[in-house]
This record gives sequence, C-alpha cells and structure tokens, in this order.
Amino acid sequence: MFLIKIFIFVALIATAFAGPWGILCAGKKENTIRGCDKQGCGYYGAPRGRRKHTGVDVKCEDGSVVYAPFDGMIVRQAKPYKKDNAINNGVQITGKGYCIQIFYIKPIRYRGPVKKGQKLGVLLPMQKVYPGITSHIHVQNCNLSNPTSYL
Ligand SMILES: [Zn+2]
Repeated sequence: MFLIKIFIFVALIATAFAGPWGILCAGKKENTIRGCDKQGCGYYGAPRGRRKHTGVDVKCEDGSVVYAPFDGMIVRQAKPYKKDNAINNGVQITGKGYCIQIFYIKPIRYRGPVKKGQKLGVLLPMQKVYPGITSHIHVQNCNLSNPTSYL
C-alpha cells in the first residue's frame, strides 16, 4: 500500500512538472530531452562550438510521426541550415501565445491550421547525416528564449 501511494505521488509530480505542450513524437509517453552523445547535448544552451544551442532536442526516432504541441497555425517552412542536407526542413507554428520552429521533419504542409496532437510530419533520416546521434526533433522559440518548461 505504501509503495502504491509513492507510485501515485510520483505520477502526480511527474504530471505536475510536465509543461502545457502535447507529446511531440508518436509512441512516446513524454517529451524527453536528448541527453549527451558524441555529437553534443540536447538541453537549451548546450555548447555548439562557439555558439550555444538555441532550442531543445526532444528524442524521436527517424521516420516517426511528429505531432503539433498546441493548437495554432503553420505559418511557413523553417530550415535549420543554409546548406541543404537530408534533414534540412521544418516548420514555424504560432498559436496560444507561442511561436516556435520545429526542425528535422518532413512536414505534410507548410501553411494552415493545426490542432494539438495532429500530425505535422515525420522525422527525417537523422542517422544518415549524424550517425550515432540520439535522433530528435529540434524545437526552438522564435525569440530563442528557453522553451524547456513548455515541454
Ligand atoms: Zn537542437
């Protein structure tokens, strides 16, 4: 009984700490930030050479369906790199007071309304570009502030 109470308590705490956004990657129970691998770490502000990581990396496997985290509008295509490669694609979404960019997905559309939990696209083949990396979606606020508490 005591263990059950602890389990319920932990479950409640976990729910309380989860942010307002919905699950981003199909098949996941929560939005988990990528840890550190040989390509770097996934948390906001992690070193990227001389720069800093301007978003958070949420774990997701190549080819997985990616969902909209809130009700809003897809406003345009958004790409992470100037130079094209196999994962250079994504979208910008606004709604509910948020403005975010999601990278490394092949979007099903570049414009129009989306509901929380609706399919945005699928994760591109990240392992082909960065072998051994923890595959992930990159999510950043349009103003590059820290989005971690929304996850
Ligand atoms: Zn990232």
